[in-house]
Amino acid sequence: MIDEAVSDFEAVHGGRPAGVWAAPGRVNLIGEHTDYNDGFVLPIALPHTTRVGARRREDGRVRLYSSQGDGTITDIALDGLAPGVVAGWSAYPVGVFWALAEAGHAVGGADLFVDSDVPSGAGLSSSAALECATAAALNELYGLGLSAPELALIAQRAENAFVGVPCGVMDQMASACCTDGAALFLDTRTLEQRHVPLDLEAAGFRLLVIDTRVKHDLGDGAYAALRAGCERAAELLGLDALRDLPAVGLAAALERLPEELAPLVRHVVTENQRVAETIEHLDGGRIAALGPILTAGHASLRDDFRVSCAETDLAVEAAVAAGALGARMTGGGFGGSVIALVGAAEVEPVADAVRSAFRPAGFAEPVVFTAVPSAGARRVA
Ligand code: ADP
Ligand code: MG
Repeated sequence: MIDEAVSDFEAVHGGRPAGVWAAPGRVNLIGEHTDYNDGFVLPIALPHTTRVGARRREDGRVRLYSSQGDGTITDIALDGLAPGVVAGWSAYPVGVFWALAEAGHAVGGADLFVDSDVPSGAGLSSSAALECATAAALNELYGLGLSAPELALIAQRAENAFVGVPCGVMDQMASACCTDGAALFLDTRTLEQRHVPLDLEAAGFRLLVIDTRVKHDLGDGAYAALRAGCERAAELLGLDALRDLPAVGLAAALERLPEELAPLVRHVVTENQRVAETIEHLDGGRIAALGPILTAGHASLRDDFRVSCAETDLAVEAAVAAGALGARMTGGGFGGSVIALVGAAEVEPVADAVRSAFRPAGFAEPVVFTAVPSAGARRVA
């Protein structure tokens, strides 16, 4: 894969890249739609990565090609970059140059070649992988000396302000900071993080990822509306963020909220609680206990937050019926992927059960794979 990254770079730009950097996609175990409420998340990085071969340019231009792009080379001057100037996929990497410059870092031009095996638009964070691999490359090419969390914040700023997606910080923190063999327990307010060892295989379990291969269009606008709803609810409750509402205060708070906001608040508060419970079980080595928490998390996303869809609901239902210990949609929702915790012997039966349920429903064949907690952004050549 790395030799390929070098030869592909040569074919597009001529000459060799100074290095190749990789950043992974992620699945979130639990803690969904909590990151923009200052709450808690627990993602793992996937073995799937986006690789960026890169070399400095001294003329202040960015030349950029992606194997998953639109087949053209983007060639743009850094001078005069502003949100809205770049459209399409290249806004993600170009946004990283912009965000670095905005933050006062002396970053010049570069030739970049992008290749990825992170499924795109599948709720597995290909966007953060692209941003973080680009940020890691520029960090070294220009000797910026930024830490992994600092790179994640730059990447998030690129996506929020340059691409125009109001995402929280989980995806970029997962892609930048995760480590092999551990889940990342992150407090999205303080950015305090703890790497929680997670050796599913040793415990006789597997984590299935079921990519439904659907992405419903309403997702983009709906995400912004949900975020705004949560912020409005916090304001009505006199809180900085919904993270500040303790579970014991939930019932009273719900009575004070308009009907359309109460379920959002219930999801966020119970979801933060589910993250805390999950951490306790992981620390106690009780992996099987995660199952019901995952399934409860899905019900909350389906019934209260309303971001699931027929495909993800059916995948969860079929997986659990076939013996998964628990399952939930992961990522922002409106399609995307489902994770299922299964016993080692149940991988194929559960995958088959989901495929068999999808066929008569008229849904596309899902892509199913097992995930192990993998490393965050790094130099690979
Ligand atoms: P997700 O992050 O869940 O995969 P997003 O909608 O946030 O979904 O990001 C997907 C978008 O990111 C793609 O439509 C594309 O614009 C961009 N993208 C991600 N990876 C690549 C890549 N390797 N090459 C080009 N564009 C990419
Ligand atoms: Mg994304």
